[in-house]
Amino acid sequence: MKLNLPTDLYHSVCPCRIRESKDDQKSYSKCCQIWHDGLGVNHFPAHALNLMRSRYSAFAIGSQILEQRPLMKHYLENTWHASTRPQDLMLDDTVWTGLRIIQHNSSVLKAMVEFVAYYKINGRTERLQEKSQFEKINGQWQYVVGTYIETQS
Ligand SMILES: [Zn+2]
Repeated sequence: MKLNLPTDLYHSVCPCRIRESKDDQKSYSKCCQIWHDGLGVNHFPAHALNLMRSRYSAFAIGSQILEQRPLMKHYLENTWHASTRPQDLMLDDTVWTGLRIIQHNSSVLKAMVEFVAYYKINGRTERLQEKSQFEKINGQWQYVVGTYIETQS
């Protein structure tokens, strides 16, 4: 993945879709940008899975495109449950290279998404597997907490 400029970004495959099958490779403008830009106009993902995707994309974009970092940080903070939200979220320069959804389920007010996120360190691809919990507060899904899952590589 190479995302250098915001102008490239909008027509690129959404960061959350890069590892999907060809049919599901929506562009950023048709995928997570809808949620990132919807911030402030009361337009939030109706499903926790979409929130999960949009948060992954916010990390991926915020870490690679400095101009986008404040917006992505704002988005992540706004979709983070008040009880677990970091005081001052720091986005580092991690290169996130893809997302794979393992499983997800949802009831009316609680949801779980298990995923693997891929990232690069020193040219090597690493994976982070996590089960994230979400809660719906005032009609809006929020990320509450994640549990890492150890897997054999
Ligand atoms: Zn997306």
